[in-house]
Amino acid sequence: MKTVAQIIVAGGRGQRAGGNIPKQYQNIDNISIVYKTLSKLLKVFESENKSHFSLLGPQIVVYAKGDDEFLSGAIESHVVQRVVGGSSRTASVRAGLDALRNTPPDYVMIHDAARPFVSTDTLTAVLRALDSHQGAVPTLPIADAVKTFDKNILGDDVERATLRRVQTPQAFRYRDILEAYDALPTDLALSDDVAVARRAGLHLTCVEGDPENFKITYPSDFEKARAYVRETSMGNETTLYTATGLGYDVHRYTDGDGIWLCGVKIPAPYTLLGHSDADAGLHALTDAIFGALADGDIGDHFPPTDAKWKGASSDQFLKFAVEKVSARGGSLKHVDVTLICEKPKVKPHRNAMREKIAELTGLPLSRVSVKATTTERLGFTGREEGLAAQAVATLVLPE
Ligand code: MG
Repeated sequence: MKTVAQIIVAGGRGQRAGGNIPKQYQNIDNISIVYKTLSKLLKVFESENKSHFSLLGPQIVVYAKGDDEFLSGAIESHVVQRVVGGSSRTASVRAGLDALRNTPPDYVMIHDAARPFVSTDTLTAVLRALDSHQGAVPTLPIADAVKTFDKNILGDDVERATLRRVQTPQAFRYRDILEAYDALPTDLALSDDVAVARRAGLHLTCVEGDPENFKITYPSDFEKARAYVRETSMGNETTLYTATGLGYDVHRYTDGDGIWLCGVKIPAPYTLLGHSDADAGLHALTDAIFGALADGDIGDHFPPTDAKWKGASSDQFLKFAVEKVSARGGSLKHVDVTLICEKPKVKPHRNAMREKIAELTGLPLSRVSVKATTTERLGFTGREEGLAAQAVATLVLPE
């Protein structure tokens, strides 16, 4: 099975498209263009492709510095990894590729945020072509006659059989395209990733493009896009449902120098006993997400009998669960954690915990709740033998 990452280039200003905000954040029938693109890209991991390709890590959206609010508004809680881009498309893709260095996927797909109508066939075709090539790109022939043009004067015919229109996604074996970018002078900006790949001598192939995979560029494209949405949405809308999961976890106190709770280290004259870092807050939350996915529990995915999770940071458990939500084509909407303990005092750390969970899940802070209670000195938490955590996660998933 090949792991695939996706880089969605959303750094452009889209000035040719008009409007007050960059085109990729504008809506078509109440859904932003970038949101449509992100959901569409996940479809390649469904159905018959499921056993061939898996999404590794979140989708990476490369966006322009200062566009945080536009992006947040446009993608809602769709879980993505945000990366600030550079002054050119080349610099932005480079930043996206860099973000994958520590967890390199087999394949990477680089796609324009403003092409929301890419088909699963095109996505599948570029990925499958990577079995025998280092890169693959969808192209289209040109139907009209083509001539050179200079200062409003038409010149010679250009043999159109020698020309192709080039679309995205442009897909590559990750290590090859990373090397190609690494070899490129940092101040050089090329038109697309194929240009970078060719410069490095990668072995590329073309797959059949799709006229419907057009890039929303001009104001008239919005009308075309709306018409397309109306035409194709009849009869094949995805039905979504809301799923809620509950998680619960307990760890025992022992001598030590502090505890991890909801991803925050709290200094204390004690610690929590456990195989991993014993972060009961993140464990309960991770289990809540597995619960909403009806996909087992934390012990199934990260067995305590496996030495590799000894002392492990629980961040990675939560991230793994969140990635499972994305891979299912769903999104995490809200989380609520309750910590049940006499010690430590949670309140001074509550905002840091919320911020950490927001960072790990991709949720805005307004959808992350952390609460605490004691049990009035009753029971094991009351006797200060241990600490308990409960969590509820709410997801929206496709039927
Ligand atoms: Mg635990």
